[in-house]
Amino acid sequence: MLKRLVQVALAAIVVVAVVTIWRASTFEAPRITAEPWPSPEQAPAIEEAKLIADLAKSITFKTISNQSNEIDEGEFTRFLAWYDATFPHVSTLPVEVFNTYGRVYKWEGTRPDLKPILMMGHYDVVPVVPGTEDIWQEPPYAGHIRDGFIWGRGAMDMKGPTIVLSNVIDRMIATGYQPERTVYLALHQDEEVGGKLGAVAMAAWMAEQGINPILSVDEGGAIAAGIIPGVEQDVAMIGTGEKGYYSLELIAPGKGGHSSMPPKKTAVGKLAAALVKLENSEFDGGLAGPVRDMYLALGDTVPAYQKYLLANLWIAQPLIEMAMEADPSANATLRTTIAPTMLQASPKENVLAIEAKAIVNFRIHPHDSKQVVRDHVRRVINDPEIKIQEAQSFGDEPSPFSDTSGPVWNLVSTSVAAVYPQAIVVPSLTVGATDSRHYKEVSDNIYRLSPMRVTEDLRGGIHGTNERIAVADLKPMAYLYWRLLDRATKADAFSD
Ligand SMILES: [Zn+2]
Repeated sequence: MLKRLVQVALAAIVVVAVVTIWRASTFEAPRITAEPWPSPEQAPAIEEAKLIADLAKSITFKTISNQSNEIDEGEFTRFLAWYDATFPHVSTLPVEVFNTYGRVYKWEGTRPDLKPILMMGHYDVVPVVPGTEDIWQEPPYAGHIRDGFIWGRGAMDMKGPTIVLSNVIDRMIATGYQPERTVYLALHQDEEVGGKLGAVAMAAWMAEQGINPILSVDEGGAIAAGIIPGVEQDVAMIGTGEKGYYSLELIAPGKGGHSSMPPKKTAVGKLAAALVKLENSEFDGGLAGPVRDMYLALGDTVPAYQKYLLANLWIAQPLIEMAMEADPSANATLRTTIAPTMLQASPKENVLAIEAKAIVNFRIHPHDSKQVVRDHVRRVINDPEIKIQEAQSFGDEPSPFSDTSGPVWNLVSTSVAAVYPQAIVVPSLTVGATDSRHYKEVSDNIYRLSPMRVTEDLRGGIHGTNERIAVADLKPMAYLYWRLLDRATKADAFSD
């Protein structure tokens, strides 16, 4: 009997080995391809020198969003005056103003009966962390150009894309280009603090006006250069969905009093126990949706053992997930994450806390919701003494995923493939928050891509130190916007 079992087990191992090796050897990663564009004869009339000069100048306006919501109004006003002078054709389009500094320009198409296109960008930036000014190799608000880079706060996030996009639309109008579909250009002023004055108001206005863009484009993904382990080739990551943002406050009650006679259980001890339980209870998750599609698309470029695993997800998925879970940025694409960030208890060392409070920040995966988060936290902590309530901050449900098939996705993904033939084009999940989430009620297909090459080193500049963008990135970025607008504004681009 035992011999028989061993024989069966061995046979099963051989079958699995043969099947998996066969699958790996015949595995072809799904690849998005397109004829490279533009050829030198077709190149649109983009002035590279103007792209560079405009971006450098835009960085010199300190359009900073602070957590306190106080802004330097003079800087925002001066930025917009400069913007009008720099993009004379954009600035003569009909415009809707939102809370003084937000704008939606309307470039009317010849076919107002068709669904429009929405292009968006924000021009506010995060502050430079006090005390880090000295580690900047170039001052953060000077707009210096050195070693092939334009340096400064906002170069990547996201004055770079916004200024290039504005240049493209201005040039297209100047050359007499006439779109069939209407194009809206949304200029957001407060993305970095939640977008209430800009994107939220603009999306509400669009809903009221019955404006339903068939395609919306915002920041989010980028052209990852050497960021994905095992992949040397550039990967153009188009964000098709983004995670939600949510914070809960946990409050443990105490009796206060003198710390010389503490009770068995203090407020701090109870809170700490709850936090430990929470940290040890990850949300369910796994390789699925666009994240799974992304890894499959990389199958031809990764080392052989990784390809072997990808070709055999049916059996190897748990192994891949384990490897991803060990890396915080990969883990964040698999599930809702839990991050305790703020703690508060007694104001004095010899006084017992009357209550101990913690704020826990969650980034909600599109397969979960705020409700799922609340239920999970209650169930895991399982302590009626701990009060769980929403923290006072902005919170958003995750965005639904946009299509990764069909005409809108095809147009966007092949445009990226045409302008960046060296890159593998993949759908992805945007882990941070962007203003585009506010448009989910008005637009079905929202794609998130700042078309610039981001290396591990450059990535650290986003919201960090030494933010800069390669000068060489600007022209292809302009080409991508040009091609996208040219194709998407055609009446027959989509059937609607
Ligand atoms: Zn941004």
